[in-house]
Amino acid sequence: MNSLQRKFYKFLIRSNIFQCPICGGKNHSSYNRPCRECRRKIKFISDNYCYSCGGELDGALAICSKCLREKKRQFLQAVSLLPYLQFNRELILSFKNGGKIELATFFARLAISKLKRLEIDFDIVLAVPLHWSKKQRRGYNQSEFLAELIAEGMRKPFAVRAIKRIKKGKQQKQLNSVERHKNLKNAFLADPKILKGKKVLLIDDIFTTGATVDNVSIALKKAGAIAITVMTIARA
Ligand SMILES: [Zn+2]
Ligand SMILES: [Zn+2]
Repeated sequence: MNSLQRKFYKFLIRSNIFQCPICGGKNHSSYNRPCRECRRKIKFISDNYCYSCGGELDGALAICSKCLREKKRQFLQAVSLLPYLQFNRELILSFKNGGKIELATFFARLAISKLKRLEIDFDIVLAVPLHWSKKQRRGYNQSEFLAELIAEGMRKPFAVRAIKRIKKGKQQKQLNSVERHKNLKNAFLADPKILKGKKVLLIDDIFTTGATVDNVSIALKKAGAIAITVMTIARA
């Protein structure tokens, strides 16, 4: 994407020209975010969450049953906004693949209020990068737009050049956790000039096995980052 296209997308995200992305304004009029009625259908993750994945806790332990089966992760903690279920799934997929880029403002607002409420401490914000060829095909990286809005709202720098994806890898959908880790090994390269001594807030769309954010965290730590908090829109 060239800088003109990028500016255009940023303009679209910030301008109040899109009706509710779910009902199109049939239920209620509201711009760039779900209307009151549609918002009622969205489920949220409570503050009683698993620090290892950001999902809702499902037992008496401080870690959920899915994470008990995974190996120790490289980031300090994870937080997530919504469970990846039913109605939420459609909402997130319409942001990810359906071109409803204006949802970035809605998710950013939710993220900012959660970060403040949980008093999460960080110095810089960055997004999980796409390989350049994928970004070119899609035209943008939706997590990058989200990260930029969160950075603005939290008054922290958005470090768009701190990390890049240097290996394309296979589609992750059909792979299990071990295969995903193998697929992503050495896929990311981070810049020590930007990251040394920094506490990072890392933004991604969906936390599935955590393999992607875990491998990004390895690269960030190699470049000198001292702590990483992962924030995703959804926990699958
Ligand atoms: Zn609506
Ligand atoms: Zn968990």
